[in-house]
Amino acid sequence: MTPKTPIYMDNAATTRTDPRVVEAMLPYFTEKYGNSASRNHKFGWDAEDAVEHAREQAAALIGADAKEIIWTSGSTESNNLAIKGAAHMYAKTPGENGATGRGHIITALHEHKAVLDPCKRLQREGFDVTFLQPPADGVITRAMVEEAMRPDTILVTIMWANNEIGTINEVPEIGALCHERGVIFHTDATQWVGKMPTDVEKDNIDLLSWSGHKIYGPKGVGALYVRRRKPRVRLEAIIDGGGHERGMRSGTLNVTGIVGFGVACELCMKEMEAERDRLFKLRRKLETELSGRLEGVQINGNADRRLPHLTNMSFGFVEGESLLMGIKEIACSSGSACTSASLEPSYVLKSLGVGDELAHSSLRLSLGRWSNEAEVDFAIDRIVKAVNHLRELSPLWDLHKEGVDISKIEWQAH
Ligand SMILES: *Cc1c(COP(=O)(O)O)cnc(C)c1O
Repeated sequence: MTPKTPIYMDNAATTRTDPRVVEAMLPYFTEKYGNSASRNHKFGWDAEDAVEHAREQAAALIGADAKEIIWTSGSTESNNLAIKGAAHMYAKTPGENGATGRGHIITALHEHKAVLDPCKRLQREGFDVTFLQPPADGVITRAMVEEAMRPDTILVTIMWANNEIGTINEVPEIGALCHERGVIFHTDATQWVGKMPTDVEKDNIDLLSWSGHKIYGPKGVGALYVRRRKPRVRLEAIIDGGGHERGMRSGTLNVTGIVGFGVACELCMKEMEAERDRLFKLRRKLETELSGRLEGVQINGNADRRLPHLTNMSFGFVEGESLLMGIKEIACSSGSACTSASLEPSYVLKSLGVGDELAHSSLRLSLGRWSNEAEVDFAIDRIVKAVNHLRELSPLWDLHKEGVDISKIEWQAH
């Protein structure tokens, strides 16, 4: 069976909003359109009830209390509020606990830009930031964080699962370490929550970011979990004005989006286990068939500690952009990040030590709620054809087949 094209294999970038989510949102545009901060009438009360119900749905998904959920516009904002908010609240004065600056923060080089950029800004403000170099398999361990810890460390921010390669860091273990040392622990769990079981108590998390549009909810709405006891975490607000969300994030709430976010959380919780198994089998098929039918395929990131629905594969001896052109019917991401004019290879793959060539010729295929076997078969077929075709045209592939080690060739300039 040929599936309808283009097929969508970019669920790590965003997901389709589940029609059940859309249906739940609709009345809040046209009938129950009150401002949840309006305290004097039924429109306001209905909106507030809806927001508080969604808060409970969101909290249930991660084992939190509803009071610990702060609504935001998405994970970028949640990360900014968590990282800058904690750094500013717990800042040291130079000299305190041996601090050379305003306090020490630990993160890793292959984090999302929505973590790296706030950390870089804090660095410019006088905080010391350690950017951990990930090992070749991409997994950040407790031991790596422990080695980087200092007496003046105030915050550790390590993502749960990586958005490009799907690798899973030792988050509960890192959380335990932070709690032993009295250090605040934030995790960007955007790719993890809703797909994998989460319990902020057992997993030792103080601050956790996630986003609606990565879990079959709407875009432009997210949440930040802020621990209220053992320890009670305090944050300096970024957005002031009215004191909504316990003063941590002012602004009229996106009621429709929040209603959708809540339903999206509830659906993920109900369907998580079956969905995990189903997608894992599809991904395994994708990986085994592609590496079985093609030579020179490399799966990036740790083989086992990976999200079930995401794979990142490099195809040697093909040029990345030509590969993308050859598989136009498959919507996916590549290891070439088109930043303005320049074509830079993915900084995530580079940080793992993947060479520029292989990084350019890599694909991230991420499956989701509507992925099925027919689509996976179609993708396998198209990728095999495209790679074979490109290699037929490649003189480097010919040399490789003749046993020449390409990396040892000394190119002659004329
Ligand atoms: C998508 C994503 C973000 C950004 O989330 P938005 O809600 O789009 O702002 C941050 N971190 C990770 C790991 C992501 O995958």
